[in-house]
Amino acid sequence: MPLDLKALVRTIPDYPRKGILFRDITTLIENPEGFKESVERIASQHRGKGITHVAGIEARGFIFGAGVAIALGVGFIPVRKKGKLPGETIGQNYALEYGVDTIEIHADVLKAGDKVLLIDDLIATGGTALAAVSLLRRTGATVDDAAFVIDLPEIGGASKLKAVHVEVTALMA
Ligand code: IMP
Repeated sequence: MPLDLKALVRTIPDYPRKGILFRDITTLIENPEGFKESVERIASQHRGKGITHVAGIEARGFIFGAGVAIALGVGFIPVRKKGKLPGETIGQNYALEYGVDTIEIHADVLKAGDKVLLIDDLIATGGTALAAVSLLRRTGATVDDAAFVIDLPEIGGASKLKAVHVEVTALMA
């Protein structure tokens, strides 16, 4: 029987605000088989595509992204919140429910010809992932693939990525 990864994700009501059902992946990564299987399934979906780098979105995208980078034998790029990277950066703003946020990468981390797989734990509206794709593409690199542990399809984020020619995979909905 294949491992039921969805059963290892816990849902916490009213976090971070009343009315939100927060999908908590800490219970998945605390489980050694669950964590390993999640990383291996994502890696196996993207082997043979010529991926040169995995980019993970702060913070939970680092956890899965680092594992997938090791499994694929490629380097890892942290897509960070504003002000955290020490070198010269390029940034991308994106809208939040209330306000604006910025993500950054090092300006010299990618070049034309590189092929990036984007990873995060969860896609909801797709705003964060869309901003990351735009940012990564500004370097000249190709971003054709994004992988998530969880997709919330009723919110529609995956469709937004598909509209900009990114193929989306998720381990569960
Ligand atoms: P989006 O930009 O609306 O697609 O939201 C995705 C971002 O918010 C990702 O970086 C997720 O880590 C985070 N996020 C939103 N909802 C949840 C949740 O229920 N569990 C874990 N992370 C979430």
